Amino acid sequence: MRLILLGPPGAGKGTQASLLVENYGIKQLSTGEMLRAAVAAETEVGLQVKSVLENGELVSDELIVSLIADRIEQPDCANGFILDGFPRTIAQADSLEALLFSKNMKLDAVIQLDVDEGKLLDRIEKRARESSEVRSDDNAEALKKRLAVYNEQTAPLIHYYSEKGALKAVDGMASVEKVASSIDAVLKAGSLA
Ligand code: ADP
Repeated sequence: MRLILLGPPGAGKGTQASLLVENYGIKQLSTGEMLRAAVAAETEVGLQVKSVLENGELVSDELIVSLIADRIEQPDCANGFILDGFPRTIAQADSLEALLFSKNMKLDAVIQLDVDEGKLLDRIEKRARESSEVRSDDNAEALKKRLAVYNEQTAPLIHYYSEKGALKAVDGMASVEKVASSIDAVLKAGSLA
């Protein structure tokens, strides 16, 4: 199974992706995590993207697409994958489509976590307090920027995938368990169609 999780920062993509990993035996590919790992390891890519991440801006489409292109053909993705944080722009979505086509792969669904934006700041502040991993972009200023970037560049993907008939929206404001069971339900319904 190959999925995309779509939603603003703090929508719960990472949490739901981990549950999908357990339940479906597919691999989570979080571009944010890949980039943070590169920054921590001070690789060439890491040094290149550090300040972009800290400011809540997007790294270039080319860089992220080549990262994903390498990743999805690794053996641990043979059962499928969940893209978390990618695509984030229409250009990335177009590149992904071409990439999957060239590898003879098909996307099963795009799951949109529908959330109340007013409540996201609380969620992210809570995550920053509770997490052992300190994220340099989990502060009010960078979050505001990330939300603005999401609305401008990523939200148009909702329409993009809905036109293609691939979009499945679930209520992302419910409890973690309820969101997970809604996702499960839409995936099961999809496989019968
Ligand atoms: P969020 O919690 O905001 O969803 P992520 O962990 O997915 O954040 O990503 C953190 C940062 O990594 C983003 O603010 C951006 O700088 C960079 N990034 C992640 N994925 C992409 C992408 N697909 N395209 C461009 N930049 C990305």
